[in-house]
Amino acid sequence: QSQHNQDLIAKLKQQLQRVFGYTSFRDGQLDVMLNALQGRDTLVLMPTGGGKSLCYQLPALCHEGLTVVISPLLSLMQDQVEALQAMGISAATLHSGLSSETALATLQQLQRQQIKVLYVSPERALQPSFIQRLQEYQPGFIAIDEAHCISQWGHDFRPEYGQLGQLRQYLPNVPFMALTATADAATQHDIMERLQLQQPYCHRSSFDRPNIRYVVQEKFKPLKQIKDYVKKQKGSAGIIYCGSRKKTEEISESLQQAGIKAAPYHAKLEHALKESTLRQFLRDDIDVVVATIAFGMGINKPNIRFVVHFDIPRSIESYYQETGRAGRDGLPAEALMLFDPRDAQWIQRMIEEQDNEHRRLVEKQKFAAMQAMAEAQTCRRLVLLNYFNEFTDKECGNCDLCLDPPQRFDALEDAQKALSCVYRVGQQFGIAHIVEVLRGSKNQRVLELKHDQLSTYGIGQEQSHEYWFSILRQLIHRGLIVQDIRRFAALQLTEAARSVLRGEVTLELAKPRINLTATRNSITD
Ligand code: ADP
Ligand code: ZN
Repeated sequence: QSQHNQDLIAKLKQQLQRVFGYTSFRDGQLDVMLNALQGRDTLVLMPTGGGKSLCYQLPALCHEGLTVVISPLLSLMQDQVEALQAMGISAATLHSGLSSETALATLQQLQRQQIKVLYVSPERALQPSFIQRLQEYQPGFIAIDEAHCISQWGHDFRPEYGQLGQLRQYLPNVPFMALTATADAATQHDIMERLQLQQPYCHRSSFDRPNIRYVVQEKFKPLKQIKDYVKKQKGSAGIIYCGSRKKTEEISESLQQAGIKAAPYHAKLEHALKESTLRQFLRDDIDVVVATIAFGMGINKPNIRFVVHFDIPRSIESYYQETGRAGRDGLPAEALMLFDPRDAQWIQRMIEEQDNEHRRLVEKQKFAAMQAMAEAQTCRRLVLLNYFNEFTDKECGNCDLCLDPPQRFDALEDAQKALSCVYRVGQQFGIAHIVEVLRGSKNQRVLELKHDQLSTYGIGQEQSHEYWFSILRQLIHRGLIVQDIRRFAALQLTEAARSVLRGEVTLELAKPRINLTATRNSITD
């Protein structure tokens, strides 16, 4: 047995160098390969770029038969097949997008055992005629890439992928290898259950990306915040994710007007335009892509220095995947999220409108976790890693909360200023207007409404816009003010506000954390 093992290791090492030109395995790769070659089911959790493909491509060369790879992404399949062919390995794809001649030719090659690695789409893999062929050929193993798509608990459930569990009953003796870059605890369990993995060998790489600094800022003047932020990056490459196609175009345009080389990217743009944007971004001709989540899968650009979330994502998995596109080269990078509790309320409403009860529940839970992370008062990385089941209690030292822990201060006087200002404007105005009045702004609306004649006009002028935003939000969190959503989020005092106004209680708030990114000391300064 152990001699057999030694032989396998030698063979894998030899092919690693000869075919792929690499000198050593990355963390986890060798053990996964050995287990798969010995007929054991495996579950591979590795972050994007961790080297998952090698886990099935290399062992595919070290056994006699066929290796089947199931993948939901046609473009990725095509890329991988071309790369393998360039290395002299006979690889092919089967999916519904192929002409019948091409598909037939591939099937004939399969019949003649001329194909080593076959990539198939899930629909194709589930066709009875194809399953019959697999029963006949008995592949060495079946790799299932992006395995989180199998799970209804995953953030990217695909119904046709969910059916893949059926393969097991037709191919009881073929080992399965399930691979994914993102799966919370529930999803991991679900993958194993649905594929009926038998005592699988599990490899979980660390999901920590220590060179990425996680920062969350209050969203107050988002366009200006973004412009200032991007300008400070001095031409480094970055992605700005936002929640709608319209916003990608608006933000991109306003960045362009500020002299920044930016372009929008979303699913509805013409194919040729998308291609050229991507090409220009890869060549550093465009610095910033303002995109929906349509931009990302398969982007291989190592020197992305920042990823901004203009809007809060729907799940920690999405957040992790999207921020993970920064800093692939290992150099310092930053993930900035702009957070506005009103965005969160809006998303919650959208989720409530879902018809499918199960999806509603899943999305609600995932979003609640995401929101808690945005509002966290402890190390963001801790929240992230614990979410992926990588338990740790060590604070990271490279997130906004570690670098600048929130300080508490006696906020009674500030609260009184803010609350009485809400009262003086008749409890009819939203946060932004209250801040203008507190700071003694001369903007047209303030003057028109004669709010410059109120006793609270300008009583907060020594503090910044951001400062008062943060104070008001905290007062909302504490239930001293409510936002009337039906009336343009006008602020209204609650019962509890009275005792604060009368000075009958003490009140501590977190010191507003402002201009965090100005304190960073990464290479992009
Ligand atoms: P994933 O599928 O996990 O996102 P890939 O399989 O695309 O990652 O691998 C990411 C990169 O790392 C690729 O360029 C791949 O060639 C490279 N790579 C993988 N394994 C090794 C290794 N053992 N040594 C050097 N480079 C590797
Ligand atoms: Zn931290």
